[in-house]
Amino acid sequence: MIASVFACLRKLSCKPSRAALGLGMLACFTAPGAMAADCPGHPDAIGTSRTLVVDPREHPIIGSMQYAKTLPLADHEVVLTFDDGPLPKYSNQILAILAAHCAKATFFLVGGQAKANPEGVRKVRDAGHTVATHTQNHPTNMQRMPIERARQEMDDGIASVTAALGDGTAPAPFFRIPGLSRADAMEEYAASKGIQVWSADFPADDWRHVSPQRVYDLAIQRIEAKGKGILLLHDIQPRTVIALPRILQTLKARGYRIVHVVPATPERPATPTEPQQWQLHPASETVAISRWPKIPNFVFADTAALPAPALSNLDWRATASAKRGIRGVPLPPQLLWPQMAQPQESAVVALAVPAASVFAIPESTRVTMLGASPARRGSQTAEASRETEVAAKPVPVRAGK
Ligand SMILES: [Zn+2]
Repeated sequence: MIASVFACLRKLSCKPSRAALGLGMLACFTAPGAMAADCPGHPDAIGTSRTLVVDPREHPIIGSMQYAKTLPLADHEVVLTFDDGPLPKYSNQILAILAAHCAKATFFLVGGQAKANPEGVRKVRDAGHTVATHTQNHPTNMQRMPIERARQEMDDGIASVTAALGDGTAPAPFFRIPGLSRADAMEEYAASKGIQVWSADFPADDWRHVSPQRVYDLAIQRIEAKGKGILLLHDIQPRTVIALPRILQTLKARGYRIVHVVPATPERPATPTEPQQWQLHPASETVAISRWPKIPNFVFADTAALPAPALSNLDWRATASAKRGIRGVPLPPQLLWPQMAQPQESAVVALAVPAASVFAIPESTRVTMLGASPARRGSQTAEASRETEVAAKPVPVRAGK
């Protein structure tokens, strides 16, 4: 690790000034896999900056479109997800584009599609992506479905994908509900089986009848608005095939990094994180400061040649802003999460806006119990300030076919 730190420093053509050193170290440690982003034969590829290992049992529901928690990503980190495949005609093109970028993604496969195209499932796995599931038949009304049927949809989807993998391995315990049509009982069932329910942080509306340009515009606009997060796409849509290369090129040009998410196993423990990193809107300064002290201790403990920057000399906000400015990205408003300042009901339609009181709720295992089911939606409106684990009322999104 120390060697990689110095290799990283060399790459940054570091000058011995303290400011440059601090900035360089920041780049190294917020993108610990920056060198792994190298993609042989594809110098313009965005690559995959790091792998994030998550424990579904610790964090059973994620995705700020519907929940108060999401993946513990750093600023400018994006997780790519693709739903509804495999459909060879388009899924294979998506795989080829990702391969040309050395970008790893998570695929939420439909059991019926897996049954029809088992080779497509193996291609996703063999390319190193995360294989996850998305029910057997992609019903669009799971919210209203009897729980027994919903469970069957989940179980059958997992069984079909497992059969298609064909090597005795199971898909990752990651599950996305078709149409994001969530319900408490489904989330409770998933949690009981150690399955993590994935919403998303932003869609690009690629299941709608819109142009590839529109998909590109929405993807970039929404990523830029939040600065990081889980992007929801579909590998069965021709417009996504057309839009994806430009999305990846633009993300790279603007300094974004792709993070690959995999489930924890006994041999592969979860990436250490702080609880607040999973919160929808953590206090950025708090997260940064809580991670920063590891750096000087780690790097400079055995060397007298390089002075360790004192914490008191580092202004996180200024450094982070400088980093963005250097990448050519417009500086954000002073408030990193401008939505927080003015929560409005109407804004929920486009992007979920959390109630301010979300932040008053301590981390709790009751997360799955506090969802906004249809039956409770009315009371939630009246008691929004109390029942706040869910960031916003369900967004009327119809992800999927
Ligand atoms: Zn879907």
